[in-house]
Amino acid sequence: MRAEIVAIGSELVSGQGLDTNSQWLSRALEAHGIPVAFHTTIGDQLDDHVSTFRIAAGRAELVIMTGGLGPTQDDLTREALAATAQVSLREDPGSLEAIRRMFARRNRPMADRNKVQALFPQGAEPLPNRVGTAPGIWMELGPTTFACLPGIPSEMKVMFHEHVLPRLRRRGWINRSIIERKINLFGRGESDIEADALDLTARGRVPEVGITAHDATISLRIRGEGANEEEALRQTEATAALIHQRFGSMVLGEGAIDVSEAVVAQLERTRATLATAESCTGGLIAHLITAIAGVSPFYLGGVVSYSNVAKATLLDVPSELMESYGAVSPEVAAAMARGARARLGADISISATGVAGPSGGSDEKPVGLVYLGLATAAGVQTRRLDIGPEQPRDIIQRRSAKIALNWVRLTLRSWPDRTP
Ligand code: AMP
Ligand code: MG
Repeated sequence: MRAEIVAIGSELVSGQGLDTNSQWLSRALEAHGIPVAFHTTIGDQLDDHVSTFRIAAGRAELVIMTGGLGPTQDDLTREALAATAQVSLREDPGSLEAIRRMFARRNRPMADRNKVQALFPQGAEPLPNRVGTAPGIWMELGPTTFACLPGIPSEMKVMFHEHVLPRLRRRGWINRSIIERKINLFGRGESDIEADALDLTARGRVPEVGITAHDATISLRIRGEGANEEEALRQTEATAALIHQRFGSMVLGEGAIDVSEAVVAQLERTRATLATAESCTGGLIAHLITAIAGVSPFYLGGVVSYSNVAKATLLDVPSELMESYGAVSPEVAAAMARGARARLGADISISATGVAGPSGGSDEKPVGLVYLGLATAAGVQTRRLDIGPEQPRDIIQRRSAKIALNWVRLTLRSWPDRTP
């Protein structure tokens, strides 16, 4: 059983519009155990439609198309499907009535041209459109089933869920559920983590585990499969537990949980208050933390102390410190963290000072050198990061901001639970 997806529209082949329907449909089909073997994109030309439909019918059992169902001259899906099947078009009274009602509900006159949307190849079945005018088409042609859906993504998705999935189930094409569990880790590089997960990522393992990286967060994706969703989820349990056990404090959480969400969860758990003092990250740490809803009781605020003057006047960093060690130094990082914590009366504070580049580096203090400071009631600690002189400025900033927040998260992990 293989599926092909055909995206129809001159705006797609010309590059004016992006074909997002094929990606969405592929993921939806894969999630139900139907492998997609081909994506084809064509413009609004009748001959190209017919030849594409013939090729698809010769190599796939299921062909899902989107687009070309509108009322205008360049909407050719209906006609092309009839030509491929060598049948004529007939008007479907039920669909015509539904289109009339849709216009009436929207208080708009129905143009004569909209009538063509009620035409279907002989032998085809209309797929109702609850959210737009164009009905879809379901048609079986020899061993191949064609499903034609609207081009507008929101209409396409509704029709897929309401009318395509049930038909695929009835045909016995969907009898497996596939789920993906994404466990996110932070603190080590992708290859480093992979080296510790070779038994998990081995080909042919059940359940399969894949590894991906995004913005220095590493994700282990467990693919569970079963007769239904519950069974698929159950298949992932032991592997998920193993990942938690093996990677311990590196685990941020599942799904959409990244460093920011995980540190906010720790702030909520410990009810600790946080302050920030940023030089090279220019407020990025503050931005990452305030992007999370619900952080306001715990994040008190921060200082973007980019200049030495700002470090001295807003954070009480002694000028002598900056003169003797330089602004990028563990001494200044520590003083910044101490200053932010004291000025804002926070339980914990984090600071960052470094060389974001591309210029301003030296042998002694190269681009990518960043010092972090972390202050609590127990005192101040500092950390040196070497993000690398080859890295662009935005990576150096993003990486150091995430490492800084992760340090806060790791520190809070050992603090007591204070949830009310
Ligand atoms: P159509 O049904 O061909 O008239 O398409 C209606 C609208 O849906 C187009 O103008 C596009 O904005 C959008 N559309 C069509 N095909 C796609 C696709 N493959 N991916 C995303 N949007 C699409
Ligand atoms: Mg079109």
